[in-house]
Amino acid sequence: MTQYAGSLYIVSAPSGAGKSSLVKALLAQDTGIGLSISHTTRAPRPGEEDGREYHFVSTETFLAMKADNGFLEHAHVHGNWYGTSKAWVASQMQQDRDVLLEIDWQGAKQVMSLVPEGVSIFILPPSMDELERRLRGRGTDSEEVIARRLDAAGQELAQAPGYDYLILNDDFKIALEELKCVVTASRCRFAQQRARHKQQFSNFNI
Ligand code: ADP
Ligand code: 5GP
Repeated sequence: MTQYAGSLYIVSAPSGAGKSSLVKALLAQDTGIGLSISHTTRAPRPGEEDGREYHFVSTETFLAMKADNGFLEHAHVHGNWYGTSKAWVASQMQQDRDVLLEIDWQGAKQVMSLVPEGVSIFILPPSMDELERRLRGRGTDSEEVIARRLDAAGQELAQAPGYDYLILNDDFKIALEELKCVVTASRCRFAQQRARHKQQFSNFNI
C-alpha cells in the first residue's frame, strides 16, 4: 500500500461532547489539516451553510452516491444519512495532506478497517449531566432531537474503548492541548516521517 506523509484523523464523540468546537479550534491553529465536509440528508441548522458545515443533499442524491460507491464510509445516524466523500479524501492523501473526519462510531469502524494507519480519537464529556447541559446550551436543536441524541449517547460511549486516543473534554483548553499533542505525535510516526523526508531517510539507508 502507498505510504502517505499525511495522517488520517478520525474523531468521534456523543453529540454535544464538544467535538466540533475542539476541531474548529484545532483547525484555526493548524492549517496543515483538511477537514472533510460530509454529505448529509439532515436539514441545515440556523447559521449552517451548504458546502461549509456539510453538503446538504436529498435522500435521493445521497442514495445515488452510495450506490455509485462514492463514500469512503457512510452511516444512518440520529435518523439521517451521513457519508464521507471517497474522492475528496483520496485527493488530499495523495497530496500528503493531513485529513480529519468528524464521524460517528459506525463510520469510524469502517474507516479503521479500511485504513489501519488512521488515528482514531474519541472525545468524552465529563458526565451525562454536562452532556445534556451542553446539548441544551447549544440552543440549536428541538427537545425531540435532544432526547434522541441523549438516548444514543450510551451506545456511542460504549465504543470509546475501540479508539486509539481518548480526550476528556472537561476544561476546553486542556482538551485542545491534548488534541494538538495527538496530532503532533501522529506526524512523528516513523512511516509518516519517512514519507515526508524521503531524501534524508534514503541518505541514512532507513
Ligand atoms: P459536538 O460537535 O460534539 O456535538 P459542540 O462542539 O457543538 O459538540 O459543543 C456542544 C456545546 O458545548 C457548544 O455550545 C459548545 O460551545 C459547548 N462546549 C464545548 N466544549 C466545552 C467545554 N469544554 N466546556 C463547556 N462547554 C463546552
Ligand atoms: P450533527 O448532525 O450533530 O452534525 O452530527 C450527528 C452525528 O453524525 C455526529 O456524531 C457526527 O460525528 C456524525 N457524522 C457527521 N458526518 C458524518 C459522516 O460523514 N459519516 C458518519 N458516519 N457520521 C458523520
